Amino acid sequence: LEKSARSQKPAAMDEWRRESVEQRLTHALINGIDRYIIEDIEEARQLFDRSLQVIEGPLMDGMNEVGDLFGSGRMFLPQVVKSARVMKKAVAYLEPYMEAEKQSEAERSFKGTIVLATVKGDVHDIGKNIVGIVLQCNNYRVIDLGVMVPAERILETAREEQADIVGLSGLITPSLGEMVHVASEMSRLKFDLPLLIGGATTSKTHTALKIAPVYEGPVLYVSDASRSVGVVSDLLSAERKAERVQGTQREFAAIRERNQAAPKRTSLTLTQARTKAFQWNWDTYDPPVPTTLELLRFDAVPIETIKPFIDWSPFFYTWGMREKYPEILEHPKFSTTAQELYREAQDTLLQLAENDSVVVRGCLKFWPANSSGDDITVWSDLSRQHRLATFFQVRQQQKVQGPNLCLSDFVAPAVQDDYLGAFVTTVQPSEEALQNAVRNGEEIMLQTLCDRLVEAFTEYLHERVRKDYWQYAKDEDLSNEQRIDEEYQGIRPAPGYLACPDHSEKQTIFRLLDAETNAGATLTESYAMLPASSVAGWFFSHPAAHYFSVRLQQDQVADLATRKGYQVEEMANWLSFSLRN
Ligand code: SAH
Repeated sequence: LEKSARSQKPAAMDEWRRESVEQRLTHALINGIDRYIIEDIEEARQLFDRSLQVIEGPLMDGMNEVGDLFGSGRMFLPQVVKSARVMKKAVAYLEPYMEAEKQSEAERSFKGTIVLATVKGDVHDIGKNIVGIVLQCNNYRVIDLGVMVPAERILETAREEQADIVGLSGLITPSLGEMVHVASEMSRLKFDLPLLIGGATTSKTHTALKIAPVYEGPVLYVSDASRSVGVVSDLLSAERKAERVQGTQREFAAIRERNQAAPKRTSLTLTQARTKAFQWNWDTYDPPVPTTLELLRFDAVPIETIKPFIDWSPFFYTWGMREKYPEILEHPKFSTTAQELYREAQDTLLQLAENDSVVVRGCLKFWPANSSGDDITVWSDLSRQHRLATFFQVRQQQKVQGPNLCLSDFVAPAVQDDYLGAFVTTVQPSEEALQNAVRNGEEIMLQTLCDRLVEAFTEYLHERVRKDYWQYAKDEDLSNEQRIDEEYQGIRPAPGYLACPDHSEKQTIFRLLDAETNAGATLTESYAMLPASSVAGWFFSHPAAHYFSVRLQQDQVADLATRKGYQVEEMANWLSFSLRN
């Protein structure tokens, strides 16, 4: 690879251009060079009887090598994506010829067919996209159904396309329940295909405890895109399948047993936890007053404004390179790929800005607010007489050194003069940008950049809040690094995260802000946000406010359900990280 990377330089480029057309195709695939792909493919096409043979011969040879290099850690995801892009162009060029020759892609001797989907209610698909590309590079036929896909559609497609495997993905916790539903539907409909589970919210434990028991067919958990190839290839191998499936079953059985036998971690009852709440001397505390209680709306925010606020480390993580920025640019293993990816990201950002390809918008508002136990009351006006809404918070029940925290602890109790803010931010790529990205195999770049931009915009807004709108840190002067390390006063917790695991609280934020009108955002039935790159949360100004994690017990779930008027089982479905003991 070292050698091939060098050969991209103009002088050496001629060198590989002198090789046979098969070798040139392999070279172009491995190095992700699309410059000559059409002329080379045309030349190859004339050498073979049938166009399909070009795909199955030199192109597949090249992709197999890409698969091997990636599998053995000598190639990284950004390079694989480039190779896939070259492959896609080559196949697209051959398609009309295959049609004329009455052949189709479906006749390709794929190693197997995999149907992938992000489950109903969930909108995130970067991880699933990555798995799809990695599998395609290994000559599997991937049918990607996209996001928010109902169980019926997934299973109908699996039947119609004679899939060998079904793969489900999800980002937010309510998707776990939907995955259990898909698995039980597979049982009811007498499927016996292997079911793969993956995505940020999933875990081996949840798969073992909740999903595997409801489906008789093989259920496997895939922790990471790079692992998917090994699992899929075992499942499609006559020799290795039984061993892989039985190994997993044994492992899952052990997890279930351990879970049963595990001594429940000691935790406090809700009543005990409440007696250990955070203490603050409110009598001597003078909460900062926002400069306005009007809704503040931000439309068409220029990319240039928020670019300096981007935290690049998570960008590289998503691209499979877990090292911090900027150190990663000098990292012994990643530097070349990381620098190239970073440059590409910068170019793409410039293009997005030039063509007005993404709409960055958001809104925020402050209300007079007071805590009332674990709840936060939001008042309609300064008289603090009329309740506009209640934000229901939860309290830590695990044994902790200090106080057992709840976000409401950081707001003054009634009726002191305190405030709470809330916000929704979104980044929506234009239809044209999306289609362009799909056409050019650049979806992952676009999606990861939109995710970065919405986080950066949120960071930018938070700074404006501290300096301009709530003005409790007018003279703050932090570098981007210090901001990323959250060296400022106040927090912006987001429902679904560890301090506030209840996703359904987003509903109240959306209603109070009219987020649909003011930020172009909507919620799915699982409280995922659309556009996929969106953030919603609260602003707390309190000097002691910080992030923490909450572990809940059943008594608090029941208490919360009563406070919110939910059924207990329904309540549990909206809580992430909730019922670990
Ligand atoms: N620089 C990061 C910022 C996002 S992650 C990026 O660009 O990706 C940090 C955010 O996640 C916080 O601002 C907060 O909104 C949320 N968060 C992190 N830990 C949290 C916790 N324990 N409880 C609630 N929200 C949390």
